[in-house]
Amino acid sequence: MALLDAHGTFPGTRQGVFPDAGDADWARAERLDPAAFGPDDTWELDFRCYAVRRPGGRVTLVDTGIGPAGSPASGWAPVPGHLPSVLRLAGIERDDVDTVVLTHLHEDHFGWTVDPAGAPMFPDARHVVQRSEIAALDADDSAPSYVVEPLRRAGLLHQIDGRVTVQGRPGGASLTAVPTPGHTPGHQSVLVDGGRDGVVITGDVLVHAVQLAAPDVAYRLENDRATARRTRRALLAEARTHHHVLATAHLNQPFVRPVLGG
Ligand SMILES: [Zn+2]
Repeated sequence: MALLDAHGTFPGTRQGVFPDAGDADWARAERLDPAAFGPDDTWELDFRCYAVRRPGGRVTLVDTGIGPAGSPASGWAPVPGHLPSVLRLAGIERDDVDTVVLTHLHEDHFGWTVDPAGAPMFPDARHVVQRSEIAALDADDSAPSYVVEPLRRAGLLHQIDGRVTVQGRPGGASLTAVPTPGHTPGHQSVLVDGGRDGVVITGDVLVHAVQLAAPDVAYRLENDRATARRTRRALLAEARTHHHVLATAHLNQPFVRPVLGG
C-alpha cells in the first residue's frame, strides 16, 4: 500500500541535480513520469512511504517520510507531511505497526519516526536499519540525535547486517531487507514476496524516472556514484528477470515496471 506523505518541488534545476543526463534520457523520463517535469526545469516529486499488511492485520511500514513541521527535512522539503492522517484513512493504527524498515537515514525518509516531542511514533515496532548505515553517519547528520538515539533508548532499534528476512520465511510469503548501497553506504530495499509477482520497495536506488530510463545517470547527492550505478543496474535487471513491480519513493506514481533498455 502506497502512502503519500507529501508532494513538492526539489530545490535547484533538474540538470543541476542529474548533471550527466542527456536530452534523450530526459525525453524517455518524461514519457515515464510526465508529472516530474515542472516549470523552469524543476523536479516535481512525491515523498512516499509504504505499508505491508500481513494476514492477521499487523503492518510493516517502510520509511516514515518528511515528518512534521520543524522536522530535519523542513529546510528543503514541503513539511508538514501527511503520513498520520494517511495512515488513519488507510485504517492503520499506530500500534498495528510492529515493524518499521528505514531504507536509509536521509531526512525525507525518517521524518515521522518520532513525534514532535521526540517520542517514537510507533512504540510497538522494531525499527530495522542496516548497521553500516548508522556507522557511516557524520557528526553533522540529524539522524543520530533525531532518530537513532530515541529509538535506542526505547529499545526499538534493530540493526541488521546484509540480507535479512524481516517477516515470514525465505521462499514463502516474506519481507526481505536487501542491501542496495550507493545512495548511502547502508541503503537497503525491501522485497515483498507474496507468492505471486513480487514488489521491490526501492527506497532511493532510483529517485527520478531519468534513472529508470537511463540507470547510469547519477544523482548529485549519491554518496558513491559508481556503487549506486552498479546497484541500480543490478536491481533493475533482477526485477525484470523476476517480474517484480517497483515501488518507489519519489516518482509521481507509486508502482512502476522496470523498462527495457535501461
Ligand atoms: Zn529520498
